[in-house]
Amino acid sequence: MHELSITHSLVELATEEARRRGLGRIRAVHLRVGVLSGVVTEALRFCFDVATAGTPLEGARLLVDEVPVEIFCPRCAEPKILPAPLPMACPVCGTRSAEVLRGRELELYALEGELELYALEGRDHDADAEDRGA
Ligand SMILES: [Zn+2]
Repeated sequence: MHELSITHSLVELATEEARRRGLGRIRAVHLRVGVLSGVVTEALRFCFDVATAGTPLEGARLLVDEVPVEIFCPRCAEPKILPAPLPMACPVCGTRSAEVLRGRELELYALEGELELYALEGRDHDADAEDRGA
């Protein structure tokens, strides 16, 4: 399944990011998913529980912001948000445009976690190396 490999990459990215910032358990993962990204949000949610098992993300909530399609309308000479992904045309004047400004992203933009207190006790980031072995 397409979404499963995407979810695995996201989990890897989030785990790495959490480690870099000294976060222990991750409570929530925030994603931006464009409606043109080709990713089915429901499938992503389903895969998330499987992909996070046994990682610092286990039990975390997945919060998805759906990003609408935004095109640049050459006639209005400004960006327009489409009420639906199709047709790819300005909702005001009807001019078609293939210049997509937003709506294709799949982006991890925030993590909510708990700071690991032991990380503050004079140990610096070399501690990372020990964890990685496990
Ligand atoms: Zn227009």
